[in-house]
Amino acid sequence: MFIIRIFALVFAVFFYGGFLALPSQCPAADRKIENFSSVATALNHAAGQLASRKGNNANGKVNGDVVNTVKDGPGNEVLAFKIEEANGKTTAYITASGSIEHNAFNLSNPDRVVVDLKGVSPGNLKESLPLHSSIVQRVRTALFSKEPLITRVVFDLSGKAIYNTGLSSDRRKLTIQIYSNNMSKLLSGKVIAIDPGHGGDDPGAIGPTGLMEKEVTIDVARRTASMLQERGAKVILTRSGDEYIGLYERTEKANQAGTAIFVSIHMNANEDPSICGTSTYVYGDGSDLSADPRVQRSKELALNIQSDLVRNLGLNDKGIREANFAVLRTSDMPAVLIEGAFISNPEEEKIIAKDEFRRLLAQSIVNGIEHYFAGISL
Ligand SMILES: [Zn+2]
Repeated sequence: MFIIRIFALVFAVFFYGGFLALPSQCPAADRKIENFSSVATALNHAAGQLASRKGNNANGKVNGDVVNTVKDGPGNEVLAFKIEEANGKTTAYITASGSIEHNAFNLSNPDRVVVDLKGVSPGNLKESLPLHSSIVQRVRTALFSKEPLITRVVFDLSGKAIYNTGLSSDRRKLTIQIYSNNMSKLLSGKVIAIDPGHGGDDPGAIGPTGLMEKEVTIDVARRTASMLQERGAKVILTRSGDEYIGLYERTEKANQAGTAIFVSIHMNANEDPSICGTSTYVYGDGSDLSADPRVQRSKELALNIQSDLVRNLGLNDKGIREANFAVLRTSDMPAVLIEGAFISNPEEEKIIAKDEFRRLLAQSIVNGIEHYFAGISL
């Protein structure tokens, strides 16, 4: 019976894989992060000047209601630009007729948030839109470059601000949220433990080209810590350099510091190099822990972080999982362990090596933490 089942399974996999040309399990070698880097390079050469805007919207096909007519490539343009102001937070929604590859960054003197839309022309976008929100004074748009095609959106600010960006799953809608540093009171005064996995003699998993997990986790943890500190949080880093710290020592540090949440950062690995994607773990020992408030809170934290990771990174969603990991079991506060991507997968190892992936991973963790605290303060 058992043998027949295995045979049937092997046959089914062979048959399916052999004749139906299965699409790759890993989304498109992540075009999003690939393009992030090339846009950043192009911008460094372009000296930050706005190109004059001409020749856009030549085909005159703009129709805010018809978003399915134009795909990627020539003719991909901005169809709609909506901006809202609520509770001191400015939110802009950009809809394009095809997929948007975007790159966002801060500039100062004067303070600005710049968002570049790659492969998208400005369409009927107004060149300047005055806005009298507490933080955004004006929005300017322009065709920044024709080759490669880049539309630039600049938010002129009244002071320093924090921004988040999120792309819809069809990559046609980009949401940008801008708020001043002192608006992010949710994290102000919160003590947060960030736990960079492995270190010292323990390299963690090693990718096919030799990239070590311990190097990635400390880098992402430092970026996460500085973004949390910008928002007023107090951060406990369970290791601060390339040193070996035992698992119990890590949670002990967090438990003694009165930490609100514990977030451990790792990269995943598997013997099968085709396995890829993002997952977040919470404590589980096989028994029913549904009454345990710490586990419940951990699940809420995991849900918020995992959804921001998947939304921003665009990798395969491997979901929220339960495991009896020491750092999750021995921490007194809600705790999660993030496996950002598979360092054992050659495509994902390349992505993990990129600066932009690490920045986005850190930003997604911070967004998820903010959303968690927003949710429990309701
Ligand atoms: Zn690890």
